[in-house]
Order: sequence, then C-alpha cells, then structure tokens
Amino acid sequence: MARTAVVVGAGIGGLSAAIGLRRAGWDVTVLERVTVFRPVGAGLVLQANGMRCLDALGLAAAVQLQGRPGGSGGTRRPDGRWLARIAAGDLERVLGTSAIGVHRADLHEMLLGALPDDTVVTGARVTAVTADGLVDYDGPAGPARIAADLVVGADGIHSTVRRLMWPAAAGPVHIGVRAWRGVTQVWDGDLAAAITWDRGAEFGIVPLVDGRVYWFAAVNAVPGRPAGDERASVLARFGSWHDPIPALVAATDTVLRDDLACLDEPLPTYVLGRVALLGDAAHAMTPSLGQGANQALEDAVVLAAVAGGPAGLAAYDARRRPRSQQVAKASRMIGRFGQQLENPIAVAARNAVMRLTPPRLALRSMARFTDWHPPAQP
Ligand SMILES: Cc1cc2nc3c(=O)[nH]c(=O)nc-3n(C[C@H](O)[C@H](O)[C@H](O)COP(=O)(O)OP(=O)(O)OC[C@H]3O[C@@H](n4cnc5c(N)ncnc54)[C@H](O)[C@@H]3O)c2cc1C
Repeated sequence: MARTAVVVGAGIGGLSAAIGLRRAGWDVTVLERVTVFRPVGAGLVLQANGMRCLDALGLAAAVQLQGRPGGSGGTRRPDGRWLARIAAGDLERVLGTSAIGVHRADLHEMLLGALPDDTVVTGARVTAVTADGLVDYDGPAGPARIAADLVVGADGIHSTVRRLMWPAAAGPVHIGVRAWRGVTQVWDGDLAAAITWDRGAEFGIVPLVDGRVYWFAAVNAVPGRPAGDERASVLARFGSWHDPIPALVAATDTVLRDDLACLDEPLPTYVLGRVALLGDAAHAMTPSLGQGANQALEDAVVLAAVAGGPAGLAAYDARRRPRSQQVAKASRMIGRFGQQLENPIAVAARNAVMRLTPPRLALRSMARFTDWHPPAQP
C-alpha cells in the first residue's frame, strides 16, 4: 500500500512538496485553510535553483512559458545612474540558466493544476498535529482527523504546525522594513530589471510576460497601521525617483503592503517524529536575496527525494537545514548592506564598491545561493 502524506498549507512550498511526493509514489492530501484561492500576491523571481526544482517536478517548461527570462539589469541610484550593470545573457552564462520573473498567482495555479482535483482540500484549517502523524482540522464538513505516515508543515511564516510541535521556538520578528508590491497590468515600454537603492530605501522592477511589470519597494520603518491609500504612500516616497518608477506605481491598481518579518532564531531541527517543516514555516527569510520561494522549492524536491529512503526525514533535515539557514542569514545581511543602509558615508562606500566590482564577479558571488542542483527524484 502507498505511504500516506498530509501536507498542511497549499502555498508554493506545500503544493510543490505534494507534487514531488506524489511522483515518488506517496498518497498525498493537502489541507488548506482558505476556501477559495484568489489570484493574490505580486511577482516572484525564480532563480536557477528554483527553476531546476521545477524541472525536477516536471514543470519547468510550463513555467518558462508563463515567465519572462531575465534580460539585462543591474543596480541604479534614484537619479537613474547605474551602479552595476548585467548584460542580457550574463546570468545564463554564469549559472547555466536564466532567472524568470513570474506572477505568483500564475505559478500557484500551475502547481495546483499539476495535482488531481481531490488532492487539495480547501476550507480545512489544521488545529492539532502529533509526532506520530495524527492531524486534526476544521474541515468543510466539520471537525475531522486524518492519520498519515508523513506530515508536512508548509503553513507559512505563522505556522500552526511549528507553534504546536516546536512550542519553545521563537516566532517571527519584524525587521524594521516596510515593503510594498504591485503588478502593473499594461506597460508598453521596454524595461530592464533593476533595483534602485537610496539611503534606507529600494525600488525593484521585474518585467513579466504580456507587458505586465512586477515592482517592489521597501523603506526602513517600524510596523504600523495600513495607510489607507498605499499607492499614494509609495508615490510620496518614490515619486521623484528615476523613470519609469513614478509612472509604474501610478499605473498599478492594487498595492500590497507588508511590515516584513522573518524567523531570526534558526530552528534546531526541521523534523520531529513523522512531522517535517518546509518553506516559510521552517525558515521564513527576508526577501533581500529573493530566495524564500526558491528555498521552499528546494525543500520540496529534497523531501520528495529522501522521505521514503532509508534515512527518511533525518536525511531531509541534514540536507536542508544548514543550507536554508545559511541562505536566510545571508539574506538578512545583504538587506543590511543594501536597502537598510542609511549612514551616508557607508552608502557612498558601498556604491563605490559596487561601481568597481566587475559584474561577472558579483554574479559569481550570488552563485553560492542560486547555483544549486536538486537530488535525483525517485
Ligand atoms: C515582499 C516580498 C517579496 C518576496 N519576493 C520573493 C522573490 O522574489 N523570490 C522568492 O523566492 N521569494 C520571495 N518572497 C518569499 C516568498 O513569497 C515566500 O518565501 C514563499 O511564498 C513561502 O511559501 P510557503 O509555501 O512556505 O508559505 P505560504 O505561501 O505562506 O503558504 C502557506 C499556506 O498555508 C496555509 N495555512 C496557514 N495556516 C494553516 C492551517 N492552520 N491549516 C491549513 N492551512 C494553513 C496558508 O493559507 C497558505 O496557503 C517574497 C516575500 C515578500 C514578503
């Protein structure tokens, strides 16, 4: 009889794990608390590691159709001058594969479409989990219990599974950064992907397919109440930055805002009995390296590769915890050196270093995070 797995949470990490485990012969049920998936979110950059994971799950070709391979890009100043430029194709030459900008909702829909309809149970909020694989949830037909050989906690930064099974673990902490994200639906001009840095602020542009553009903005700020009109807040802060930043923001219908948080204290293990944590539930990180979803994809393909093997979940923990925690730590540091840096002398020194660093060298230093290959899938 097939081994059974319950995945808690149908985000990018949970759905990818479900796809990988099914391909490895597991009988999988995904429990998701929302009743309807809405096309929420903004964009994501799938880097070489994430694209290779999607390839391992049989989805890279479909994602490539939905995404736009990175062209030229780099880092700019608010007046538009370039601090560092990457020529189109350089990323591919250094890493062997291009980074792809996708709308999160498109990726989510594609992952969902790769699973049989009855795999994902919506309107199912998990309330209790035990180390021997019992999962209680409030489901569409009322309270229910399910037993499984493997329980995957893929329920995001505020994970219930982590809180229940790792009660002593510290919860997420705010990092003193407010981020806005949006997707501009129609954009005629030709755009380079770029991040623009000022003191304590950044604005990023990622062209998507069909003329859409994903953008993100961040400033140093203590957590606070939503402004009401988030687009006006972004324009107030970034309206004087180089073209086309003001026009992109002005042309965006929905602007999302988050006071960013991450798990600052690394967990001592991602595994307890039959339960494994994955994605943001295990290692919610800052977005500075753009690796949160890419790391969730890595978790998913490693879990699928080793969960049924002789070392089982211990192998998953050994392979995933050091790497994901190293990426999370680096992401935090890069944020401090990049968007969060406020001291004018430090900013000038950073900009000088960036101007003097050959782009290929900068790309190679990124390769230690992105140039990762998944294990063979069973
Ligand atoms: C501003 C910003 C920009 C980002 N940019 C990038 C980027 O460019 N590249 C990148 O790789 N990453 C990026 N990320 C990070 C990325 O979005 C996350 O790391 C990733 O989506 C996490 O996926 P996940 O599946 O682990 O969790 P989630 O997407 O949070 O999914 C968790 C799911 O679990 C469900 N759930 C929660 N509790 C329960 C429960 N009790 N019972 C049942 N279901 C439950 C939730 O409803 C949800 O569907 C960014 C993040 C932010 C904030």
